[in-house]
Amino acid sequence: RSPIVVRDFALQIGRKPFQLISELMEMSIFASMNSSIEEDVAQRLAKIHGFALEVRHRGEGGAAGEAEKVVEEKKPAREMVPRPPVVCILGHVDHGKTTLLDTIRKANVVSSEAGGITQHIGAYQVTHKDKLITFIDTPGHAAFSNMRARGARTTDIAVLVVAADDGFMPQTDEALGHARVSKVPVVVAINKMDAPGANVDKVLRQMQERDLAPEDWGGETLYAKVSALKGEGIEDILEAIVLQADVTETIVADPKGEVEGVIVEAQKELGRGSTASAIIQQGTLKPGMALVCGENYCRVRQLINDKGEQIKEAGPSSPVKIVGWSGPPDAGDFFKVVKNEREAKKHAEANELDRKKLEATQLQERGSTSVDDLF
Ligand code: GDP
Ligand code: MG
Repeated sequence: RSPIVVRDFALQIGRKPFQLISELMEMSIFASMNSSIEEDVAQRLAKIHGFALEVRHRGEGGAAGEAEKVVEEKKPAREMVPRPPVVCILGHVDHGKTTLLDTIRKANVVSSEAGGITQHIGAYQVTHKDKLITFIDTPGHAAFSNMRARGARTTDIAVLVVAADDGFMPQTDEALGHARVSKVPVVVAINKMDAPGANVDKVLRQMQERDLAPEDWGGETLYAKVSALKGEGIEDILEAIVLQADVTETIVADPKGEVEGVIVEAQKELGRGSTASAIIQQGTLKPGMALVCGENYCRVRQLINDKGEQIKEAGPSSPVKIVGWSGPPDAGDFFKVVKNEREAKKHAEANELDRKKLEATQLQERGSTSVDDLF
C-alpha cells in the first residue's frame, strides 16, 4: 500500500505542508513532511478544505495485492456562502473596550423591537444596514488567547481601540501583534473623541508608523472616530467593520455542512446543568443533535440566543447558548457533531482516556510513578 504522505497530500488539497502539519497538530497528530497519515484523517482534512477524498486501490503495476492510494480532487464538497464576521475588541487598558461593547449592544437593542432584553452569553449580534455582525463580548477574552494558541482563526476582524487622548500604548501594540500573528485584519476605533486632549492626527500618524496607514492617507486601514461614552460614531465603526468584512475572503461558511463551532464560555447553571456559549463556524446546529467537545459531550436540549429566546436553529457565526452538556467544556475548545449521543459519549470518554494516559506517561517520565499505579 502506498501511504498518504503529508507533503503530497497538502499540495493536493491546496495547502502548504507546514499548514497541514499545524492542522494535524490541532487534531493532536504530530506529523512531519514525510509522515504518512491515516485514511480517515486525510478524509477529514480533505473535507475541511472542500475536497472529497477518493481512495482507489489499484492492482496493476505493483506487486500482487498491492494497492495504491490516489487522492482525487473533486468539486468542493462545501458550498461556501458569506456569513457574518466574528469581531473581537482589543486595545490598551482603559481605552474604552468595555464601554464600546456596551454602547454598540445598547444602540442596537434600542433600534430593534426586541424590547431591550439581552442575555449575556459571551457574544452578541447586531445589525448594521441589514448586515449582521457578531461581537465577542469580553475584551481580551481568555477564549481569544486560547484560540490563538491553537493557531486557529476564530475571529475574523479585530477592532483595535485607541484612546485619542492617549494614543498607542504598550498593550495596543501587543494586541496589534497578536492580530497580525493570527492574520486577523484590523479596524481601528479612535475612541474618546470627546475627551480634552483628543488628538486624532497623532493617532493617525502612529497608525502610519505601524504599517496601518489609514485609508484616507492612501493606506488600507479602515478606522472610525468614536466616543463610546457619548455614543457617537457608532454607526461609523460598524460601517468600517462591514466594509472590512466585504473585502475579507475568508468570511464564508457552509450552512448545510457538518456542524462545527468553538466554545466562548461555559458554566453550570441551576436547573439547566452545564451550559456553554458558542459560536457556530460551519453548518446549522439544531436541538437533538449530539456534540463532542474534548472530554465533554452534549445532546442539545435547548438553544438560546443573545436575546434570551429559545431558537430552533443556529447557523454560521451565530452566538448561541447550548444546553445539555455532560460537563462544562473549555473556552476556546472546538466541538463537532457526531451521529448520536452514544457516539458522543464514546468520543468524549476516549478523549479523557487519552489525556489520562498522556499525564501518566509524563509522570512516569519524571520517574515518580508507574502507569499501572494510576489506573
Ligand atoms: P477598557 O479597560 O478598555 O475596557 O476601558 P473601559 O471601557 O472600562 O473605560 C475606561 C474608562 O474610560 C472609563 O472610565 C470610561 O467611562 C472611560 N471612557 C470610555 N470611553 C470613553 C469615551 O469615549 N470618552 C471618554 N471621555 N471616556 C471614555
Ligand atoms: Mg474593560
